[in-house]
Amino acid sequence: MNLRQEIDALEREIKRFLDSCDTLEALDQLRINFLGKKGKITLLTKRLGSLAKEERPEAGKAINRLKAWATEALETRKEAIKTALRERQLQKEWVDVTLPGRRFAIGREHPITLVSREITGIFTGMGFEVAEGPEVELDYYNFEALNIPKDHPARDMQDTFYVSDNVVLRTHTSPVQVRTMEKQRPPVRIITLGAVYRCDSDVTHTPMFHQVEGLLVDRNITMGDLKGVLTRFVHLMFGKDIGVRFRPSFFPFTEPSAEVDIQCVICKGKGCRVCGQTGWLEILGCGMVDPAVYGFVGYDPEIYSGFAWGLGVERVAMLKYGINDLRSFFENDIRFLSQF
Ligand SMILES: [Zn+2]
Repeated sequence: MNLRQEIDALEREIKRFLDSCDTLEALDQLRINFLGKKGKITLLTKRLGSLAKEERPEAGKAINRLKAWATEALETRKEAIKTALRERQLQKEWVDVTLPGRRFAIGREHPITLVSREITGIFTGMGFEVAEGPEVELDYYNFEALNIPKDHPARDMQDTFYVSDNVVLRTHTSPVQVRTMEKQRPPVRIITLGAVYRCDSDVTHTPMFHQVEGLLVDRNITMGDLKGVLTRFVHLMFGKDIGVRFRPSFFPFTEPSAEVDIQCVICKGKGCRVCGQTGWLEILGCGMVDPAVYGFVGYDPEIYSGFAWGLGVERVAMLKYGINDLRSFFENDIRFLSQF
């Protein structure tokens, strides 16, 4: 085989390899085999010297052409492989932007949370501060200091969870009032909102529920202040056209005491199933703080007077949102929660 034939044979060989070569690594190996220092084309160049002098220029040109062609062919193939790789990568990472997005389940704020925030907002807007206290409470703060001694019949009104003889789960948020008055001289303007516990469970009672209580103690506080603050609260919470009435009642730690009714928010006072045809709904209990309570915290009842009130957060939420089953608050069904 003369040099001419060898050049043609090499060209065919390179073409064949190029066709089957589909990775950059294989292509690089191909380049080394043919164009590298010991590559077949390079070795061919070294043989020029053994040719007859007159044959050399022609052969040299032919080898250079082969070299130039091979270099370019390899380069073209390299670009083709790169393009193919990129295509494959894009195919793998392809995103159909017309597909609907993945939905994340988003929780909703509980109606109790919403109403609690609204109640807190109304009273802080009137200058009250938020006070907090423990849910596991001493008997002293839950009962004694609120004018409810051990043998007092009012203890029967509250089905208490006892942790021990002297420790209870608080049955109301009132202990926070005593704890605040112990630490602070009047004026006292606080509300306290939180979970309370009673050993009671049926359609209208749950063992845990939420209460808000408020306390205002200062000089010259009268029943008129009480009526003004609570009427304003009702109007902000349920609308300024809602009727409010105060009925005499009894609580151990207030004297006089009253219960507050609002005009039925469902029937607007006409009478319906929710209000038992009376047109009124009981919403909160309140009264002037019994001077005996001041004795426990060292306030002088000759100088200071004040009032306190309490209401159930679940009750407010039920009336506000027209919820008729207390149990729906505890089921945490997202279909229920997302209505608010
Ligand atoms: Zn009604």
